[in-house]
Amino acid sequence: MPLIVQKFGGTSVGSIERIHHVAEKIIEAKNEGNQILVVVSAMSGETNRLVNLASQVDSVPNARELDVLLTAGEQVSMALLAMTLHKLGYEATSMTGYQAKIHTDSNHNNATIERIDTAPIKALLDDDQIVIVAGFQGVNAKGDITTLGRGGSDTTAVALAGALQAKECQIYTDVDGVYSCDPRVVKQSKKLDTLDFPSMEEMARRGAKVLHLPCVQHAWRHNVPLRVLSSFEEGEGTLIAGNDCLNEITGIAIQNCMLELECLPTDLDTLLRQCQLLGIEVWSVIEETERVAILIKQDAGLKLKLVFDEKIRNSEQVSLLTVVGNRAQGIVVSSQELLSKNDIDIRHYSLAQQSLMLVLSPTQVDTAANILHDAYITACGESSHIQKEVHFG
Ligand code: ADP
Ligand code: ASP
Ligand code: MG
Repeated sequence: MPLIVQKFGGTSVGSIERIHHVAEKIIEAKNEGNQILVVVSAMSGETNRLVNLASQVDSVPNARELDVLLTAGEQVSMALLAMTLHKLGYEATSMTGYQAKIHTDSNHNNATIERIDTAPIKALLDDDQIVIVAGFQGVNAKGDITTLGRGGSDTTAVALAGALQAKECQIYTDVDGVYSCDPRVVKQSKKLDTLDFPSMEEMARRGAKVLHLPCVQHAWRHNVPLRVLSSFEEGEGTLIAGNDCLNEITGIAIQNCMLELECLPTDLDTLLRQCQLLGIEVWSVIEETERVAILIKQDAGLKLKLVFDEKIRNSEQVSLLTVVGNRAQGIVVSSQELLSKNDIDIRHYSLAQQSLMLVLSPTQVDTAANILHDAYITACGESSHIQKEVHFG
C-alpha cells in the first residue's frame, strides 16, 4: 500500500474544529487506499506563548530546558488529533519524537536529524493504524529532547517521508501553495504550480517561511516528492521539483527581525569567532570603507550581546529583501533606481549566484517588495506563474 506523509501546520490544527477538519482530510486519503503518516505542529500561537513564558524567566533561557518546554506544544495537537480520529471510528496512535526514534545531534534549539529508526512506525502502519508524529522534535544520543529550529515540523515530515519512502510528502498550511512573494505582503503575488529546488532553497534560506530550509534541502538531496497545499481549500498546491532554476526572476523573500551589528574592523575576527562558538548564523559580513558590520537574527543578538556587548559600536534593526532568479545579478542598478525614486535607501546589498539581497529599513521593506515585484514579476508575467486570487486560511 502506498504511504503518504501529511504535515499540518499550526493554523491547520489551531482549534478543535480545525483538528476535526484535518481528521476528515486524513480519513479521505486513507480511504483512497493509502497508509497515512501525519506530522503535526503545535496549535497556532502556542510555541510563541511558550517562548514568551521562558523569556519572562530568563532573557537567554537554558537551551535544554527550552526544548523540553517547546516540545509540549506539538504533544497537545498530536493527542487531540488521535482522539478525534478515534471518535470518527479510525485507529490512530500518536508518537513523540522520542517514541518515533527521530535521532538528532545535540544542538539544542536548532538540532539536525541524523537518523530515524523506522521500525516502531512501520509496525503501527502495518497494523493499519494512522500514525501521528509530533513535528519539530527529536532526541539526542544522551536521550535528551531536542528541537529542530522554528518551523521545523516541515523537516520532520520530509525526513520521515524519505526514511519510509513515501509516495509524496504533503505540507498542508494556511495558503494554497508557494507564491512569488509572501502574499500577505505583496497582494499581487502569483501562486506557483511548480517550483524548482534551487529557487525554493534560496527563498527558504532568505525568509520565505512557507517551508523550513532543512526540509527543502533534505527533500532535494533524497528525492522526496514535496507538495505545499492548503488545508482550508481543495487544490493541487505547489509541487517542488527539478534541479535547475529556469526562471529569470522566480520570487522575492523577506526576512524581518534582523540585526546589523557594527564593530571596529580590528574586532571583526573576534566577533565572528564568538558567533561560531555560540552557534549563531552570520547572514552577511559588511566590510565598507567607513564601517564593518555583521547581520544576524535579532533573537541571536541577545546571546551575543551577553558576551560581546562593549565591543558593539552600533546595533540597528534591519530587514532583508532577496530577489531570487537567474537574472538577479543583472538588476542591481535598476533596483537601486526604482527604490530611490520612492525614497527607499538600500543600506547594503550582496549578490549570490541566483539572488540579490538588499538590506533595508524595516519600515520600508514591504513597500520595496511591492515595487520590485511589480517591476520584475508582475510586469514580466512568466507563463509558469498562474495569477489567481490569494486564499488565506
Ligand atoms: P505553518 O504554520 O502551516 O507551518 P507558516 O506560517 O510556517 O505555516 O508558513 C505559511 C506562511 O508563510 C504563509 O501564511 C505566508 O504568510 C508565509 N509566506 C512567506 N513567503 C511565502 C511564499 N513565498 N509563499 C507562500 N507563503 C509564504
Ligand atoms: N511549533 C514549532 C514552531 O512554531 C514548529 C513548527 O510549527 O513547525 O516553530
Ligand atoms: Mg511553518
